[in-house]
Amino acid sequence: MIIDGKAIAAQVRAEVAKAVQELKGRGVTPGLTVVRVGEDPASAIYVRGKRKACDEVGIHSVEHHLPATTGQAELMALVRRLDADPSVHGILVQLPLPDHVDEEPVLEAIDPAKDADGFHPFNVGCLWTGKPAPRACTPWGVMRLLAEAKVELKGKRALVVGRSNIVGKPMAAMLLEQHATVTVAHSRTTDLAGEVARADVLVAAIGKAEIIRGAWVNPGAVVIDVGMNRRPDGKLVGDVEYGPAAERASAITPVPGGVGPMTIAMLLKNTVDLAARRR
Ligand code: NDP
Repeated sequence: MIIDGKAIAAQVRAEVAKAVQELKGRGVTPGLTVVRVGEDPASAIYVRGKRKACDEVGIHSVEHHLPATTGQAELMALVRRLDADPSVHGILVQLPLPDHVDEEPVLEAIDPAKDADGFHPFNVGCLWTGKPAPRACTPWGVMRLLAEAKVELKGKRALVVGRSNIVGKPMAAMLLEQHATVTVAHSRTTDLAGEVARADVLVAAIGKAEIIRGAWVNPGAVVIDVGMNRRPDGKLVGDVEYGPAAERASAITPVPGGVGPMTIAMLLKNTVDLAARRR
């Protein structure tokens, strides 16, 4: 089975659009404010995509685009103003920030109740302790893909390759919450092929083109490829060698069209959930 992230993301967006209409009926227009600093071209594209997605579901989006010279104090003052503004339900600070700005205190200045990305340490703590809170969008999107594909996780061996704060670690927490037996592999893992061969569910979030060979995949495993890598020939590929992996897997996500579309869909969901909770 090829897990169709585009179709599932469209379904999530439709659900969000419905929730937005309900909130509007009660006098609340969900609002997402995006803060972008400097001229990073990829960030400009991502922010445009996020704002367009907001428009499509009826979320009011605002962008604060600050010059690259913006200082730490000025940026944190803006975040605090947004924290205090009742029309702002979700705040997202687009990363990366310029080198002279320390990202951590900026992200920590976001009110956890407005943390659209789910990166605030308070919300990370909520995830690990099973409390409702906004969740990191990419791994939460993966969980939705697994649910839609009716993948049973209870008692299954799940392997997450990658331990970043935005994908690998929250992914491990979410799989554990669903009763999988979770292993997290990373750059110091000594036998990646062996770990992959034992996994019933594999989530690859590494950022290295096709580093996981198809022949390693446990026959019948479910393969979720978060990686997005541009090959020298210009082709966008995942972290898993797709063709041979697809022959062994029972279900697999393509790149593009798998996990990618889910990330923005779950950002919209976080925003509407924050607006509903605030109300
Ligand atoms: P990071 O660079 O933050 O983390 C990469 C992880 O991979 C690290 O934990 C690193 O280990 C591990 N790693 C590196 N090399 C190896 C190796 N040879 N064997 C095993 N593990 C290794 O990346 P992100 O988590 O931010 O992103 C991962 C991928 O997912 C990227 O391709 C990114 O583009 C993509 N992505 C896609 C999204 C989407 O919407 N589809 C959203 C976010 C990310 P160590 O900790 O030891 O350094």
